[in-house]
Amino acid sequence: MKRACLHQSRAVEREAHEEMPERAFAPSIDDDATWSDGPDTPHCAACEGIGWLRPKLPVGAPGYNQLIPCACTTIRRARRRLAQLQELSHIDAFQAQTFATFNRLVPGLQVAYQRARTFAQNPTGWLTLLGPCGCGKTHLAAAIAHAAFAAEQPALLVVVPDLLDHLRATYSPTSTVSYDQVFTHVREVELLILDDLGTESATPWAREKMYQLINHRYNHRLATVFTSNIRLEQLDPRVASRMHDPALPACIVTIQAQDYRRRPLTPDQRHRPTTPDEGAQGCLNKR
Ligand SMILES: [Zn+2]
Repeated sequence: MKRACLHQSRAVEREAHEEMPERAFAPSIDDDATWSDGPDTPHCAACEGIGWLRPKLPVGAPGYNQLIPCACTTIRRARRRLAQLQELSHIDAFQAQTFATFNRLVPGLQVAYQRARTFAQNPTGWLTLLGPCGCGKTHLAAAIAHAAFAAEQPALLVVVPDLLDHLRATYSPTSTVSYDQVFTHVREVELLILDDLGTESATPWAREKMYQLINHRYNHRLATVFTSNIRLEQLDPRVASRMHDPALPACIVTIQAQDYRRRPLTPDQRHRPTTPDEGAQGCLNKR
């Protein structure tokens, strides 16, 4: 599903069509109205499968008549949200792109692998993976998403040009979700993985949306991963300067690898140990 090399030409096509077809980016996430919190947990002793509890308060006390979600409801909501995030991330399309299948022996990828692995173990701050098309960035981004989902941590993996398409689609009169719903959801998710930053069309609208998204995540110190096949200085300077900020913490890895897709792939290579300092990468703000 790596489409970075196609994005620039696709972006030109997109800008030529003002009316974008609606795409099913959301089922609306966290939308209680779409959920059935009814008795689908018949084994919960606390609520007897109802999903809701009435707090034990004196008659007439504030909140006496208010129902609160049972713990089983909270768990069920979290699991449903996780499943929705997996669906929105199209994680099935990245099934083979895990840390276990990553070939660390391709020259120039060891540091990127280690940084991604460290980030996945404790997703805080920002991780930026820069490098040419096909150098393994998306594989590592997908591997981070897989690790988050395996740990039942909310995460969202999106390809930036596709995200912008989805946002444009919400302007359509036939859209079933609003722009605010989609944008807020992406902006707030606990771990956001933005694949192919910088390959989106360079219209003022697209640039501003990406800046708003990234600036929010910067201000709120939300865990974010970026991949890009352009140089840092070619990105929006407002975004690039935030990627450098040591307060985050932020780590930028520049991959100098050859085309990862042409790697020799053998089981033996997959499981050989990593050499720590091989490769010509740099981490500006060491995690
Ligand atoms: Zn319950």
